[in-house]
Amino acid sequence: MIRFSGICKAFGSLVVLDDLDLDIAPAEKVALIGPSGSGKSTLLRVLMTLERPDKGSIEIDGAPLWHMPKNGGLVPADGRHLREMRKNVGMVFQQFNLFPHMSVLRNVTEAPVHVLGIDKDEADARARDLLDMVGLRDKVNHYPAQLSGGQQQRVAIARALAMRPRVMLFDEVTSALDPETVGEVLSVIRDLAHEHNLTMLMVTHQMGFAREFADRVCFFYQGRILEQGPPDRLFNDPQNERTQAFLRAVL
Ligand code: ATP
Ligand code: MG
Repeated sequence: MIRFSGICKAFGSLVVLDDLDLDIAPAEKVALIGPSGSGKSTLLRVLMTLERPDKGSIEIDGAPLWHMPKNGGLVPADGRHLREMRKNVGMVFQQFNLFPHMSVLRNVTEAPVHVLGIDKDEADARARDLLDMVGLRDKVNHYPAQLSGGQQQRVAIARALAMRPRVMLFDEVTSALDPETVGEVLSVIRDLAHEHNLTMLMVTHQMGFAREFADRVCFFYQGRILEQGPPDRLFNDPQNERTQAFLRAVL
């Protein structure tokens, strides 16, 4: 479904992604773990086309996100193609980035109406369903500032889902939350994982959740995936000494 091949990305002299390969199957749930600065967020950002890789290719269902002309250097696929590809992928960040001047409902309907051109009543109905699913039925007319962090993050998840993506990316979505609200957001993600056929990539420091949620865990180190496997194998019997040291520090 998603194929990263030989992805390289540097910021100046700092190599952040180092010839990275990763294949993700449809509906697969993949957790990305690893030390700070190892390139996890950058990988999600290149898939979101928020960053351009220096080398390599990314394909979604066989269609490349970037063109590689013969004279080298990657150029984005043409605008229309890129917009089509982007629609497949939804992302939720650590900071929820809701539109502060819009109600919860408008936050969720804005892009479907203005980007996808969906009829307003239909977008409203769908947004209400999604907000119901994330447990915020009674908050549709509130503004973001009137919500707790966990509630705002659940709105952000509903907003991403409103675009009907096939792939959802979560980047440390619980890191900015109080400990007592972490669980409510994780349980929404858990429900999503069970009920929808979504492909999911999740950067997380919640090892317990990664173990329970993921089909596969990838350990990042200095821009590479040093080790990957089913959670039970990776957590119980890591082979690489860097993985062992990381897990000793965080578990
Ligand atoms: P964390 O767990 O702390 O979120 P990460 O694995 O997500 O870490 P990245 O955000 O991918 O790490 O960053 C990898 C490295 O690239 C870091 O050293 C970071 O400072 C650097 N970096 C990321 N984005 C930029 C940028 N736009 N300009 C310069 N350096 C950047
Ligand atoms: Mg990060």
